[in-house]
Amino acid sequence: MRTFSTSDILEMWEKGRPLHPLDRGLLALSTALPSLTDDLADWPLGRRNRALFDLYCKAFGSRLHGWTSCPSCGEKIEFDLDASVLLSTQREEPGWQEMLTVGNERFRLPTSRDLAEVMTASDARPAARRLLERCRESRLEPLVSSDATLEEVEERMASADPMADIRLVLPCPTCGHQWDGTLDIARFVWAEIESRARRLLLEVHHLARAYGWTEAETLSLPAARRAMYLEMVQA
Ligand SMILES: [Zn+2]
Repeated sequence: MRTFSTSDILEMWEKGRPLHPLDRGLLALSTALPSLTDDLADWPLGRRNRALFDLYCKAFGSRLHGWTSCPSCGEKIEFDLDASVLLSTQREEPGWQEMLTVGNERFRLPTSRDLAEVMTASDARPAARRLLERCRESRLEPLVSSDATLEEVEERMASADPMADIRLVLPCPTCGHQWDGTLDIARFVWAEIESRARRLLLEVHHLARAYGWTEAETLSLPAARRAMYLEMVQA
């Protein structure tokens, strides 16, 4: 996995702006893994998340800073996590072919492509059912399963691919409410790309005004020199 150059950051930002958050995560991964021939959309979600964590640590450092709102009192809660610690506590990724048998049915693990397909569903239950339907090995017969069976499949998938949905226990310091939140690493990756692209463009803007340099000339400078010129311009 390679780290990003300034032009990688700007290209990803430009290409990623109109995309869905799912596709932004895959765009970042395909930029960091240029020699990969797999279709990243077909990776199980946990494998994708693990690679995104790895990418985040290598490209942006391991500190994850986020915020959310307490569902009970609405208080804004900030949190800090060490992504490398979280990554080291997760067991190895499952094989991409890993299949689960529940009752008479066999299921593969869900991928980004499956998730994208069911995202248009208005409700969580029909979306979950459609997701399992897509992951079922034999789709010739309609899926006839009780809610209890579907829940069992979901639980088995979660334990076979624990990084597919990374849950954080979040306590509210104001009202004491405690709840489970999902940590979407793709959004953290995109937030870094976006903030770095904006910072780069602002640097180009200030230095172009001061020295008349082109964007390419400014970006070809090492970061330390760019920062020093910027400091002098803004002094
Ligand atoms: Zn609260």
